[in-house]
Amino acid sequence: MAIRFYNTLTRQEDEFVPLHSGEVRLYTCGPTVYDYAHIGNFRTYLWEDLLRRFLRFRGYRVTQAMNLTDVDDKTIANARAAGISLEDYTRRYIDAFFEDIETLGIEKAEHYPRATHFIPDMARLVGKLMERGHVYESRGSLYFKIATYPGYGRLSRLDTAAGVGQARIDSDEYERDNPRDFAVWKAPKDDEPFWQTEIGPGRPGWHIECSAMSMKLLGETFDIHTGGVDNIFPHHENEIAQSEAATGKPFVRYWMHAAHLVVDGEKMSKSRGNFFTLRDLAARGYDMRAVRYHLVSVHYRKPLNFTFEGLAQSQAALARLDDLALRLGQFGASHTTGTGDLAAKARERLQGMLEDLDHDLNTAGALGHLFELVRETHTTLDTGRFSTEDLEAVRKVLHAFGRIFGIEPGQRADLDAEIEDLIRRRAEARSQRNFAESDRIRDDLLRRGIVLEDTPQGVRWKRKSA
Ligand code: AMP
Ligand code: ZN
Repeated sequence: MAIRFYNTLTRQEDEFVPLHSGEVRLYTCGPTVYDYAHIGNFRTYLWEDLLRRFLRFRGYRVTQAMNLTDVDDKTIANARAAGISLEDYTRRYIDAFFEDIETLGIEKAEHYPRATHFIPDMARLVGKLMERGHVYESRGSLYFKIATYPGYGRLSRLDTAAGVGQARIDSDEYERDNPRDFAVWKAPKDDEPFWQTEIGPGRPGWHIECSAMSMKLLGETFDIHTGGVDNIFPHHENEIAQSEAATGKPFVRYWMHAAHLVVDGEKMSKSRGNFFTLRDLAARGYDMRAVRYHLVSVHYRKPLNFTFEGLAQSQAALARLDDLALRLGQFGASHTTGTGDLAAKARERLQGMLEDLDHDLNTAGALGHLFELVRETHTTLDTGRFSTEDLEAVRKVLHAFGRIFGIEPGQRADLDAEIEDLIRRRAEARSQRNFAESDRIRDDLLRRGIVLEDTPQGVRWKRKSA
């Protein structure tokens, strides 16, 4: 079945066909590194990680770039307030960002371009816009003149005519011909960092950063560009205008945007003060796997209202998956009393999951199929009538879930991956009649407080009571 994504540009679900067969080029707007990211930001980053993982599961090679905005008004203002250089200031939050994405099990993108490392490319892009007559100068800054780009407003469906000739809306904006014209290059100021470039001294505007870095790393036309819905206007609208005006080519083929994480109906944001960071949740004792599960369990185009009750429910749902994985892990290699009915159900449920994900990444639907299978599996295991094939088929579904959702069931903190691995290696050693090795592993586990019991139904384990 074909993959379909809701494309903000066309306002419909479009069949996904990448530009280069077998390969997807993906640009995900990343953090402005002026503070710690909050879990609202991570809702967007986790959904993008799911998108990436799903495309890879479906066999595509993914080249992803996520920018780090390390120069803009906010980073400059905060560095100045802290009395340190911009670079020293942003480094702290870049490091924290990479720690956080590791904590959440987010796969590393191929590129993390930092804006300050691509200044010459940004200047060159602005130079191209100047040559083509899309830019005017005012008080040393350069502005994109939206009246020169007829496609302006196509993404956000804005009525641009309304903006033209309108009374100036903001006292800051007196230097622009039209309030919607935006700065592509900002004049140097004494107390701000600036760079000497081929178009003169200054610093880039935020929007030009993403245009220059994405085209440099992914090509002038690439497949998917994502962000939260707040990025649609003006950020992505402006990216399209600058990029297409400079190259004369379509910039991005599929625009995808995630709805917000909200608190009491309001967007979670730094400025509202209604936010939590991962550090806040860890301090309250929440498991990061559950945070991850919670943030991806709701379809990405639906707002997700954050509550601790909801998070606890996700933690419980994940525990059911862990319990099933552990239960499956307790059976040995040869069960032949069953009929393979469970394997057929597992295949059907997997199919259902993938069809839902093919359909604009419907995670909630996919999880519905998965939990049906959890129920069916327990029921079958209780009867004692199942085969190795049945067990394998269910494991395969859990594994597929693990790859796509980035959460391997059974690997919770109290039974970490290493112990599970040991149990599996012991079973392997025994099946090869290597009893010296299997005993060694059992003793090793014993030292860690895990007691194994060989029963006719397979290996069971429990924690040694203290
Ligand atoms: P920023 O650092 O503000 O540029 O935001 C980085 C990314 O997080 C962007 O893609 C935003 O759209 C996204 N974002 C910001 N706030 C939220 C929120 N409350 N829920 C979901 N995504 C958000
Ligand atoms: Zn961006």
